[in-house]
Amino acid sequence: MQNFNDIDLIEPIRRALADENYETPTPIQAQTIPAALEGDDVLGCAQTGTGKTAAFALPILDYLGRLNEKAIPNRPMALVLAPTRELAIQIGESFEIYGRYLKLRIALVFGGVKQGAQVRTLNQGAHVLVATPGRLLDLMEQGYIKLNELDTFVLDEADRMMDMGFMPDLKRIIRELPHDRQSLFFSATVPPKIRELAERLLTDPVSVNVTPKKKSVSLIEQQLMYVDRAEKIQTLVDIFSDQQVDQAIVFTRTKRGANMVMQRLERKRISAVAIHGNKSQNARQRALLAFRENKVQVMVATDVAARGIDIEGVTHVINYDVPTDPESYVHRIGRTGRAGAQGVAITFCTTDERSELRDIERLIGSKIPLGEGQQEPTGPIVKTKKAQGRSGGGRQGSSGRSGRGGGGSRGASSGRSGSGGGSGARNRKRSPSGGSSGRRGGGSGGVRSESRSGGGGAGSSTGQSARSRSSEGSSAQAKRPSRRPGKNARKRNDRPNRSGE
Ligand code: AMP
Repeated sequence: MQNFNDIDLIEPIRRALADENYETPTPIQAQTIPAALEGDDVLGCAQTGTGKTAAFALPILDYLGRLNEKAIPNRPMALVLAPTRELAIQIGESFEIYGRYLKLRIALVFGGVKQGAQVRTLNQGAHVLVATPGRLLDLMEQGYIKLNELDTFVLDEADRMMDMGFMPDLKRIIRELPHDRQSLFFSATVPPKIRELAERLLTDPVSVNVTPKKKSVSLIEQQLMYVDRAEKIQTLVDIFSDQQVDQAIVFTRTKRGANMVMQRLERKRISAVAIHGNKSQNARQRALLAFRENKVQVMVATDVAARGIDIEGVTHVINYDVPTDPESYVHRIGRTGRAGAQGVAITFCTTDERSELRDIERLIGSKIPLGEGQQEPTGPIVKTKKAQGRSGGGRQGSSGRSGRGGGGSRGASSGRSGSGGGSGARNRKRSPSGGSSGRRGGGSGGVRSESRSGGGGAGSSTGQSARSRSSEGSSAQAKRPSRRPGKNARKRNDRPNRSGE
């Protein structure tokens, strides 16, 4: 099987992947990343849990990392559109993780919070913008976001976006995209309307379908059990005696919880291993292997440790604790019911976990059915501190993280003239052979140390436009060579600093 080392990614990205213990690309990554690195458009039929975020994030980061240019106020170079704020945040976090050794700015834009912090981040400049459609349009209309510097457009979860009624917004956004761009399009399903949209958006895409056969949340039998905290362990043990459990993954919120559950199961002669972040990589691998080879019946895991784990034959997923991040629920339960096999996902919920449960049900768009003999508790749902911290103002403007590592304010001395990097702000010249020649202002400068006095607009116009865009504001357009093969015949590997070429 292919290894990440076989993919031509820049070293800072490889290092970040190694930190995350990513070794083998998932199928969607193996199939899309090389094509996306070449500049091809991609149509990916894939759902959450397949590794699709890295499939689009890594090529974008690789490109921007090689380009090594300053972020331009209000003009992102990559735009990722996601249907929900939660997904946008998650995607933003993935960009931060995979791009942690690159000096790139990531901005987030979504509704439900005041726009001030988001606008400030945009004014400072962000390489990558992750957005939900409504707020994006809003800020575009106010002039805070212009898409004429865009190289890459990603549409994530297109079908969900359509289901949520975003199609008109989406069409308006698409009208504003520069003609010459790379587009990466992801959708779990491709009904006719989505196909139509994809056809409009993509040129000669590489088409990848990794939706596992018959694997969907709807095929997994979900059950909800209201339990007191003190009863959880006994309820868990009972499941093993009452139900036909071949192999189970039990998810706990904490590492301590994982250890405790493992020990209690072992005491009841139910063979178990635990994997979590406090265990060494070797210990985790050993535990995983034992579980994979069916030598133990149960794997107790925290979300982080269970990332990317794909094991056939898991008949049960048990959420010992309700996940605080609703998306985790989908990831977790997707670990059963693989390849069309029968899967059962049981979630334990205490009274103070009900607000998290409600968030999950909102996300999946349905209520989790109650297990046998279960009754809905009465009384109001109290939002716990934990839940408030997660979805409340704490997240607000997480775009503020854009400077990564708290460096967001650096380089913020944007003496921008006019509306954000006005005309001539980014005239650059790259030799077709790949040298980043002639870039004004010392392209080697980290993006965060930029000084934008006068918008940097004084540079001479040495850029060679390889794009022929017709959208308004062309005077402000940077001269970005196309990465689209067959259009301007300049592919990504003609890009600056590409090793060995
Ligand atoms: P996604 O489908 O992008 O939401 O990813 C699902 C989960 O798989 C996330 O928790 C990722 O961190 C994890 N993941 C993605 N790619 C890999 C990989 N190649 N190896 C291990 N874990 C991965």
